[in-house]
Amino acid sequence: MKREGIIFIISAPSGAGKTSLCKEVIDICQGVRHSVSYTTRQARPGEVHGRDYYFVSSEKFRSMADSGEFAEWAEVHGNLYGTAISTLEEYRNNNVDVILDIDCQGAHQLKQRFAGGVFIFILPPSFHELRRRLDRRNSDTEAVIERRILNAGAEIRESRWYDYIIVNDDFKQALNELKSVILAERCRTARVLESISKKFDI
Ligand code: 5GP
Repeated sequence: MKREGIIFIISAPSGAGKTSLCKEVIDICQGVRHSVSYTTRQARPGEVHGRDYYFVSSEKFRSMADSGEFAEWAEVHGNLYGTAISTLEEYRNNNVDVILDIDCQGAHQLKQRFAGGVFIFILPPSFHELRRRLDRRNSDTEAVIERRILNAGAEIRESRWYDYIIVNDDFKQALNELKSVILAERCRTARVLESISKKFDI
């Protein structure tokens, strides 16, 4: 059945488990892809240009932003990140559902711009657990962790305007909930009607 691709926008404070949930749901849900963003941050070991991000210079990013090539963009933790309009159009036109793993500022821009997006917020079970997860990562300094915890408060307050909130306490359950949201959104009457109307004369 043909229908326009859906844009799923997923945000969360750092440490809520968003990246793992997004990766896993793409593995278990057919027809969902990860949108590749542009960023000015350095590639981490193992990251591949064009697969994880398009890694570009600040000059290139700024010139793309100035010429209106981004559907949204924002500065996150000192680096620039953005989603190209061309990326979204390609997915939409090919009837592919896409997950945008982006921060709240970018999500807010898309909320104002696109009518059909589905906004999902991933919450940690508590601040205590968030700190425990960030500590356990062992990759950040104490100052960075403190900053992320501080930012998390403001980010979590943004969750009120998202369409869905998923609490990632038990990973399997959170994954199940995320998958269920994707499957349910695919069945929305407004998305399905056009493709079935001729067949059933409705
Ligand atoms: P990281 O550098 O760890 O991959 O991502 C840092 C943050 O940037 C995450 O919160 C991620 O969701 C956000 N991010 C990644 N891509 C984009 C994007 O295209 N736009 C915006 N606004 N945020 C993004």
